Amino acid sequence: MSTSGNDIRQIFLDYFNKQGHKIVASSPLVPKDDPTLLFTNAGMVQFKKLFLGQAKRDYIRATTSQKCFRASGKHNDLENVGRTPRHHTFFEMLGNFSFGDYFKQDAIRFAWELLTEGYGLPKDKLWVSVFETDDEAAELWQSEVGVKPERIVRLGEEENFWSMGDTGPCGPCSEIHIDQGPEHGCGRADCAVGCDCDRYLELWNLVFMQYNRDESGKLTPLPKPSIDTGMGLERISAVVQGKYSNYDTDLFTPIMDVAAQLAGTSYGKNEEDDVSLRVIADHARACTFLISDGILPKNEGRGYVLRRILRRAARHGRKLGLKEVFLHQVAQEVIDQMKGAYPSLVDSRAFIDKVITKEEERFGETLDTGLKILYDATGEAKAKGETVLSGDTAFKLYDTYGFPLDLTMTIVEEEGLSVDEPGFDRAMETQRSRSRAAWKGSGEEAMPPALEELSSQGFATEFKGYETLEAKGKAV
Ligand code: ATP
Ligand code: MG
Ligand code: MG
Ligand code: MG
Repeated sequence: MSTSGNDIRQIFLDYFNKQGHKIVASSPLVPKDDPTLLFTNAGMVQFKKLFLGQAKRDYIRATTSQKCFRASGKHNDLENVGRTPRHHTFFEMLGNFSFGDYFKQDAIRFAWELLTEGYGLPKDKLWVSVFETDDEAAELWQSEVGVKPERIVRLGEEENFWSMGDTGPCGPCSEIHIDQGPEHGCGRADCAVGCDCDRYLELWNLVFMQYNRDESGKLTPLPKPSIDTGMGLERISAVVQGKYSNYDTDLFTPIMDVAAQLAGTSYGKNEEDDVSLRVIADHARACTFLISDGILPKNEGRGYVLRRILRRAARHGRKLGLKEVFLHQVAQEVIDQMKGAYPSLVDSRAFIDKVITKEEERFGETLDTGLKILYDATGEAKAKGETVLSGDTAFKLYDTYGFPLDLTMTIVEEEGLSVDEPGFDRAMETQRSRSRAAWKGSGEEAMPPALEELSSQGFATEFKGYETLEAKGKAV
């Protein structure tokens, strides 16, 4: 029997614990005291202050399996979900951290030993990348663990240089990739490590926090450099279990099976249904963990991100022919599968069920009518030889039928059309001005609840910048 995803997580934590790392629990998906981030998107988030030297704990080495969510902001993998074998909105990032303790040499040694001995990966399929000028790392990969020079690839700043922000800690990265075979490649002559296709799977990213960047952009070596690493549990599980896709691991198959059974089908029958099943499984995991971390479906901020993915999942249920609410049942399977690693899910079980069911019901009331309007409109546009859906229609779907813009855009793209986004923005602006005028004219002191709801649909107050775009449900 192959090693389970749950065991693979434990093997990681145990290995680093043996190397003197404290096993630290995952922090919540909502970062504490960090207004720059909507969601925790990497293992290092809960340790930011330690890396900055602004906090101290009773350990200088730590290891975690961190809940991560990447469907908003700088890291947005939402559109990849269901379509690539390796991206999720919610995933777990396995990591080891050194806070001014060990550096490159040990980080490289640990990662290689765990992959090749702990997990038994074949050395002859592994590749590493280093930052283009990081001779030290390139040398260590050879001298410490015997990687052949032709298996070491130098990549540029975009891929292999990490920084916490415009100023502050930063440094080169080094990634470990596994060659999944030319049959998974893009076929281009220059396909190699770093290519966006699925041949060379990025497994693990080692960040060497080596410099401090000041306002002028100048890099000064840190007196005590640090280590931050991240490896997707779902990706290493796929490799260890001999699967090409994360969705074929035991972390996903039981969840997809529940959805498939409810829909009277099975995974692997046809590609379109399979995409829906993968999206549903991914989104069910994300919704379960977001809700258990205190987020509720809302029209703004984090709650709107939850609402968007929940509604996307509901729509994929319709594609599979599911007429009734179903996602809450899929979420129950997520809880059963993850409760060993995240026991608090059990306490939230009834709550998660209720929140998902209520939101599904709410959207269910307008989903069918909205879909009919949308398909009628795309059909009409196509018949006329047009390629764009009007912004007014997209706005009506948003405003009256609860269709987030990204959902409308996805469906419209499936029909080979696009949405007039500036037109959508104009319709939104007209709506806002109208409601503002109506409010002013009402002579009331406070904004009436109905108008408050309206204005909150378009705006977020807390996270200006990217949030205003996200409020419309645009992937940014
Ligand atoms: P990719 O290039 O494949 O999008 P990345 O470079 O964005 O990955 P990092 O930010 O380096 O990823 O995160 C560290 C590790 O977390 C990755 O090496 C990968 O194993 C995992 N990971 C990143 N994004 C996802 C995702 N959306 N779903 C699952 N695992 C992920
Ligand atoms: Mg990425
Ligand atoms: Mg990458
Ligand atoms: Mg990376």
